[in-house]
Amino acid sequence: MSPIGPSLDLPRLRRAIERHWDHSILERLQAYVRIPNRSPAFDPGWQASGHMERAVQLIAEWCRAQPIPGMQVAVHRLPGLTPVLLVEVPGERSETVLLYGHLDKQPEFSGWGPGLAPWEPVLRDGKLYGRGAADDGYAAFCALAALAALQAQGVALPRCVLLVEASEESGSIHLPAHLAALAERVGTPSLVVCLDAECGNYDQLWCTTSLRGHLGATLRVRVLTEGVHSGLATGIAPTPFRILEQLLARIENPVTGDLTLEELQVPVPKDRFAEIAAAARVLGERVAGKVPLAPGVQALSDSPLELLINGTWHPTLAVTGAEGLPPIGSAGNVLLPQIALKLSVRLPPTCDPGAAAEALSAALTRDPPYDAEVHLEMEPPTAGWNAPPFTPHLAESVQRASRQIFGRDAVYVGCGGTIPFMALLGERFPASEFLATGVLGPQSNAHGPNEFLDIEYAKQLTACIALVLADRASRPMSSDPPPPR
Ligand SMILES: [Zn+2]
Repeated sequence: MSPIGPSLDLPRLRRAIERHWDHSILERLQAYVRIPNRSPAFDPGWQASGHMERAVQLIAEWCRAQPIPGMQVAVHRLPGLTPVLLVEVPGERSETVLLYGHLDKQPEFSGWGPGLAPWEPVLRDGKLYGRGAADDGYAAFCALAALAALQAQGVALPRCVLLVEASEESGSIHLPAHLAALAERVGTPSLVVCLDAECGNYDQLWCTTSLRGHLGATLRVRVLTEGVHSGLATGIAPTPFRILEQLLARIENPVTGDLTLEELQVPVPKDRFAEIAAAARVLGERVAGKVPLAPGVQALSDSPLELLINGTWHPTLAVTGAEGLPPIGSAGNVLLPQIALKLSVRLPPTCDPGAAAEALSAALTRDPPYDAEVHLEMEPPTAGWNAPPFTPHLAESVQRASRQIFGRDAVYVGCGGTIPFMALLGERFPASEFLATGVLGPQSNAHGPNEFLDIEYAKQLTACIALVLADRASRPMSSDPPPPR
């Protein structure tokens, strides 16, 4: 007996998805790469340029051409905001699955390799290079190709809603307003499939189970009204650099890099720890290897498990900018009057960002050394996210999909970054399950140069999504009312 129901022919499904990618999707994705539709934060003139409009029309047109009975494709607009593409596909079950993707892009960045460029699609070694194919243009194509392949075999499906937004790379600033306006159309999904996440390799299905939150702040220290000859002033006045070191040492152990404030610590849940341990066994040295360490530089630990826990469940600090320090070429022997540092703090997934911000602010500003002037400006904090636990049905479904398509187990691991829309959707749909997955694997380099989509992996992921959707409609639902006709 087929574990995914008697009516699904898996080889046929895979062939259909393969054909769809080869004969339709790849050509459209290449056209999509050519559109420089940078997210509004990186293109204040996005409305006038029309790039976003062209991108949403390109994907909407392709969606409309898909042979999916009963499908409704609409581009929704709100004044001054980027559009949202909404595709509704009726199903045999009353439950709704929401599939999420985004069509806005990161800016170009520099350093693209020979023959490669952000707005010029290049097919090379099974990869589609160019900005925005992997992050996250493929999502709409993947979702509908999965649905079309299932419908071609008459497989029963849940109602599916594909939502593709266009402000994700700007922190999903336009998404809340659209979600509010589309609340009735979207409904309350039992499952949210987010197609904008990472994969640890291209050999199996990866699920992102948590994200860290973020706190940005600027810390300023002023000790003099103007710069003074360092030979005359050092030893008499404190240096702003040393005061900053002392203040930072209040929140971060300078030897280990551990953040020491209690309000920033959370326990790693047992289930997550076990999942991360499994992921560490799969990834091994590739955990450290994904970071471009300079020759000879050591990672924070030899243990892949410790590094994964560090990078997904521990708070961390990075100083990302400075003011008041002259460039070396113009640095005279001067005791500097003031220095400001930009701080970027990552918060554990379940850490309360408000309490963390307060604790951080108190630690950095109380009793300044030498009564120096200390100012801290905080940006609004962003919460992290911890996925609600999968029901046994979804856990089995995901595992089976990975084994059937890849011949390997699915892997669950957190992501060290912050994705505002996940926390947003989690808050909006507290009773939903979340499957966050994607094609952003090793070297795919979303946001940097040489972004690529691994085409074979994208096809395999499409098949996995199809299997999970097919499973969804076959699960027992005791309280399932008859579907609306
Ligand atoms: Zn993305």
